[in-house]
Amino acid sequence: MIKIRDLNKSYKMGANSLHVLKGINLDVEEGEFVAIMGSSGSGKSTLLNIIGMLDTHDSGLYELDGFKIEKLNETKAANYRNKFLGFIFQSYNLINFKNVLENVALPLYYQKVSRNKRSEMAMSYLERVGLKPWAHHLPSELSGGQKQRVAIARALAAQPKLLLADEPTGALDSTTSAEVMRLIQEINDEGKTILMVTHEDDIAHMCKRIIRLKDGVIMSDEKIQQVRV
Ligand code: ADP
Ligand code: MG
Repeated sequence: MIKIRDLNKSYKMGANSLHVLKGINLDVEEGEFVAIMGSSGSGKSTLLNIIGMLDTHDSGLYELDGFKIEKLNETKAANYRNKFLGFIFQSYNLINFKNVLENVALPLYYQKVSRNKRSEMAMSYLERVGLKPWAHHLPSELSGGQKQRVAIARALAAQPKLLLADEPTGALDSTTSAEVMRLIQEINDEGKTILMVTHEDDIAHMCKRIIRLKDGVIMSDEKIQQVRV
């Protein structure tokens, strides 16, 4: 699903340049559940954003599902994202003036699904994450864990091939984190390929493979024998 070879990324800041990803090589197969770990500033989000086509690499190869990703214009990148990718963020990124059902239905709107079908599908994803009774509430009426479940339902509604999560439990207490992780594990069990950034060891061990980044270099890449539940 993902093939990355000798990928480099720098951020230019005036006369200076910060080399953030240094010769990354990575293969991810369909169905994997991969944690990207590393301390703050190690390049985790930059790597995830490049994989998610929210940012572009400077050199090297990146192929997603057989497509070579190069400097895409924003329209083309947005089309790819709507078709292939679902995102989950630490801060949920829900639209506060839309209700829960409308938030979940949004990716379907961009996929030009008809209004009735959108509501029906969004409702089924809300049911999947256990929040059907909250469909007509606003995000502000929900707890953090519930908001993240809505964000997960929204990411699934796009029926993405790949789910990308950047610190999805970063704003949650440990009990709620474990519950959200359990849901993400179930989604992987159902076959979805997932890449997740985290700096917490306990969370990473709930994935099936851990990649450790340090200063923009992959230091280790291990399959987890005993996945935590
Ligand atoms: P992590 O997610 O591991 O904490 P990031 O990928 O966000 O790390 O950032 C890696 C480095 O790149 C950090 O030093 C950060 O300050 C820098 N950086 C990230 N995004 C930008 C940007 N848009 N412009 C300039 N520097 C950036
Ligand atoms: Mg980050």
